[in-house]
Amino acid sequence: MYGKGIAKGLAMTAKHLFRKPVTVQFPEETRPIPARARTNLLWFDERCTGCSTCAQACPDGCILVQTAPNPDGTLEKVRYEIDFRLCMYCGLCAEACPYEAIQVGGRLDDAVYVFDNMYRDKHALTVFARDYLANNHWTYPNGMKAPFGNDRAEAVTKTE
Ligand code: SF4
Ligand code: SF4
Repeated sequence: MYGKGIAKGLAMTAKHLFRKPVTVQFPEETRPIPARARTNLLWFDERCTGCSTCAQACPDGCILVQTAPNPDGTLEKVRYEIDFRLCMYCGLCAEACPYEAIQVGGRLDDAVYVFDNMYRDKHALTVFARDYLANNHWTYPNGMKAPFGNDRAEAVTKTE
C-alpha cells in the first residue's frame, strides 16, 4: 500500500519537527568532554623518573629523554621532549610508562599556526600538564590526586 510509506515518512518528519536541534555550533559551543577521554598526551614531571621506557615504546620515535645521574642514584631529566608533529596519539607511550607519568587526556584545542610549535619541550609540556591539573581539581586523568595544588593543600590542612 503506497499511503503507508508516506504516512511513516510524515510521522518521522513530525517527530523531528518539534525536537531540540542536535547540532552543536562549534566552536562557539562545545560538547562536554569526559575527564578520561583520550584527547591528547600529558606528561607529569613530578611522576617521571627519566627511565626512557616511553621513548623506547614510541613507534614514531617522537619522544626524546636525556638524563644525567644524580649523586643519590636518581636521574636528572636534562631534556624531555615530545614531537607532536610526528605523534599519532596511539597511546603506547602511556601504556608503557611504569609510573603513569605520561597519560592520555588534556586539551583538544591545541592547534597552532606555526607547525614547528607542535614540538614541545619540558617547559611547554609542564605548562600543559599544570593547566590540566588546575582545571581538574588537581587530579590526574587516571583518577589519582596530584601531590600539590589547592585541593590537596586544603585536605592536608583539614587532617592536621
Ligand atoms: S602517542 Fe604514540 S606516537 Fe605519540 S608519543 Fe606516544 S607512543 Fe609516540
Ligand atoms: S614518562 Fe614514564 S616511561 Fe617516560 S621517562 Fe618518564 S617515567 Fe619513564
